[in-house]
Amino acid sequence: AAGLVWLRRDLRLADHAALYHALKACKQVWLAFVFDTDILDGLPRRDRRVEFIRESLVELDEALRDAGGPDGGLIVLHGPARREIPRLAHALGVQAVFCNADYEPAAEARDAEVATALGSTGIALHPFKDQVIFERQEVLTRTGTPYTVFTPYKTAWLAKLDAFYRSAYPVEKYLAGRLAARPKASRRAVPGLGELGFERTNLPDLKIPVGASGAAALLQDFLPRMDRYQVQRDFPASKGPSYLSVHLRFGTVSIRELARRAHAAAASGDAGAGTWLSELVWRDFYFQVLSNFPHVVDGSFKREYDRIHWEEGADADRLFAAWCEGRTGFPLVDAAMAQINQTGYMHNRLRMVVASFLCKDLGIDWRRGERYFAEKLNDYDLAANNGGWQWAASSGCDAQPYFRIFNPVSQSAKFDADGKFILRYLPQLAKLPKPLLHAPWTARPVDLEAAGIRLGHDYPLPIVDHAQAREVTLARYAVVKGR
Ligand code: FAD
Repeated sequence: AAGLVWLRRDLRLADHAALYHALKACKQVWLAFVFDTDILDGLPRRDRRVEFIRESLVELDEALRDAGGPDGGLIVLHGPARREIPRLAHALGVQAVFCNADYEPAAEARDAEVATALGSTGIALHPFKDQVIFERQEVLTRTGTPYTVFTPYKTAWLAKLDAFYRSAYPVEKYLAGRLAARPKASRRAVPGLGELGFERTNLPDLKIPVGASGAAALLQDFLPRMDRYQVQRDFPASKGPSYLSVHLRFGTVSIRELARRAHAAAASGDAGAGTWLSELVWRDFYFQVLSNFPHVVDGSFKREYDRIHWEEGADADRLFAAWCEGRTGFPLVDAAMAQINQTGYMHNRLRMVVASFLCKDLGIDWRRGERYFAEKLNDYDLAANNGGWQWAASSGCDAQPYFRIFNPVSQSAKFDADGKFILRYLPQLAKLPKPLLHAPWTARPVDLEAAGIRLGHDYPLPIVDHAQAREVTLARYAVVKGR
C-alpha cells in the first residue's frame, strides 16, 4: 500500500504518531505540507509564524532527504488544503492519508471536508492523537463527564500517565526504507516567503531557533534550569520558563518527550520539574475544554458571564488602542505589550497581568484582547489563548473568581521589583528611582525632573485610576453574583 502523511502542526520526523502509523502500514510513504490559503489569506503580510513554519520546513525537507535519498524530500503545496490534499492523494495513487488530529473547530471542519472528498474516491483519512498526551474523552470524572476543575483533572491525568503514554513512536526504525521519491512535478525546494505572498519579519533578529533542531536546543538550555522553574517562572526579567511554546504550537517538539523528561525528573524529587509538568497538564486541560465545550470559542464557558456589559464606543476604542500599543501609563503593562508587539512572545505572568488589565481595569471584552493575542503571538493556540483569557476574565473553566482583580502596580512591584523587565522595553524611564518605576505618576515633580521625564510627553499619564476601575468592575460583574 502507499500512503500520504499530511503535516500540519507537527513539523518534525521524530516521535510522530501519523508518520509512524503510515510507515508501519505502507510500503511507500510521501510527506506533504500545504501552505493553506484558507488560513494564510487572513494573516498580515508580515507574520513571524509563517516565517517560522517556512524555516522549519526547510530543515524538515533536508532531514527527509538525508533519510530517504536525494529524490526524497517534502512535497510543499500552496493553496486551499481542502482541495490540494485530495488532489495530491489522487495523483500519487495512495490508499490512505495519515494526519495528526487538530482539535480546533475550524481545523475539524476542514478535515471533515477533506475526508469526504477523499472518501468519494475511496481514499481514507486517518487522524491520530499526537498533539496532546490525553485527548477529549480520555481523562473523565468517575461519572464519565469532562473535568471542569483543574486540580482533580491533574490528579487523574498524572495517575493515567504510565510508561505507554510517555513513550516515543520509534519512527526512525522504519523511515529509511519506506520514503518514496518526490513526484517530478513537485521537485523543488520549499517556496520562499515572497512566493507565498509574505515579507520577512524580525524572526532572525530575535534569534528564535526554528525547526526540530531549534526545539532541541531550547530544551537542552532549559533542562539544567528546570529544577529552579517553580521559583523563577514568575519573574519576567529572569530566564525562568522554557520558551518552548512556539515549538509545541508547530509540533517541532513532541509533547511526549517533554512529559517524559519532566515526569522522570519530578519522580526523582525535582520540584521544578513537577511544576513544569503541571503546565503541560494545563495545556491538555484547555485542549479538552475546547473539545468538550466548543461554545468557548466565542462565548463564555460560564454562560451567565455573557450577560456582562462591556465598555463600547469611541472611548473604549481609544483605551483599547492604548492597551494594544503599550500606552496605558502603567509601565509593566506597557513593557509587556511592547514585548508581544516586538517579539511575538509574552511572559506568562504578564499575559495574566495585561489580560486582567484589559477586562478589569478598562472594562473591555476579553474577546477583543484574545483576538489581538491571536494575531500577535508566535505560540498562538486557540485552546490555551481562549483558556487564558477566560481565566483572566473569570468567565472560564476553573477561572479566577471575578472579585479577584490584579493590581497592576503591586504586580509590578512584586514580580519586577527592580524594574529590570520594564527598563528593557521602556528605557526612557531609566533614571527614575526604582520604586517609582511601577507608578511614575506618583513621583514628585522634582523626581520626574531629575529623571528627565515629562509625563504625558516622554511617557503617558495613566489612562485609568485603578481604585475607581476596581469599583466599576465589581459593579459590572454584579450580574453574575451568586451564580
Ligand atoms: P513554560 O512556562 O516553559 O511552559 C511550558 C509549556 O506549558 C508551554 O510552552 C505551554 O505549552 C504550556 N503552558 C504553560 N502555561 C500554560 C497555560 N496557562 N495554559 C496552557 N498551556 C500552558 N499559551 C500558548 O501556548 N498559546 C497561547 O496562545 C497562549 N495564550 C495565553 C493567553 C493568556 C491571556 C494567558 C494568561 C496565557 C496564555 N498561554 C498561551 C499560556 C502561557 O502563557 C504560555 O504557554 C507560556 O507563557 C509560554 O511560554 P513557555 O513556553 O516559556 O512556557
